[in-house]
Amino acid sequence: MKIFCIGRNYAAHAEELGNKIPSRPVVFMKPRTALLQDNKPFFLPNFDSSIHYECELVLRIGKNGKSIPERVAHSFIHSIGLGIDFTARDLQSELKDKGHPWEIAKAFDKSALLGDLKPVDLFDLSKPIHFSLHKNGEVVQQGDTSLMLFNFSRIIAEVSKYFTVQQGDLIYTGTPAGVGPIEIGDKLQGFLAESLNFTCEIL
Ligand code: ZN
Repeated sequence: MKIFCIGRNYAAHAEELGNKIPSRPVVFMKPRTALLQDNKPFFLPNFDSSIHYECELVLRIGKNGKSIPERVAHSFIHSIGLGIDFTARDLQSELKDKGHPWEIAKAFDKSALLGDLKPVDLFDLSKPIHFSLHKNGEVVQQGDTSLMLFNFSRIIAEVSKYFTVQQGDLIYTGTPAGVGPIEIGDKLQGFLAESLNFTCEIL
C-alpha cells in the first residue's frame, strides 16, 4: 500500500505559503508507517516546534492501473474520506530553501491521519464535495473540490504516469487555505459533506 500526496492543489493555499501555482500536480509520498487511524490521538513530535495540520480529501484506489487516461480515471476511485497531512513546517521550509527532499518534514510516523472512507457511490462527483476542519470547535479550514487546481481524474492520471497505482493505495489531494500550527491539548474534527469524519486529540 502506498500513500501519495498532492501539494499546492488549491491556489489560496499555495499563495499563503508563498509558492507559485504549479503547472502540473506536485506529487510526494508517505510510507505506510505514516498512517494514523481509528480516531487515535496524535503525539506531537519534538523535532519541530511548528507542526501544522493540512486537512485534505483522501481517495482510496479500488483497482490496479498504470498510465490511466483522465477520462476513465474516476473509475479507479473506490472510496473517499478526509484526512490530515501533518507537516513539520519549519523543517519543510529549511529543506525547501536548501533544495533538499522534504520527506522527514512530511512522511514521519503518524503524519497521515485518515478518517472514515465512504464508498464513492455515495458522492455525486459532478458536484462540489465540501469539507472542513474544526480546531477546538472553530472552523479553521474549509474547501470543496471546485477549488482544486487539479481534479481527482487529473491527479490519478498524473500519479499513474510514474507509479503503478494499486488497490488500497491512498491519495491525499491537497489542502485549502488556512493551515496552521497545533499544540498539545488541541482537538481536531474533520467534517466531510457536513458529517463528522474524524476526531483527533493532540497529546
Ligand atoms: Zn498536504
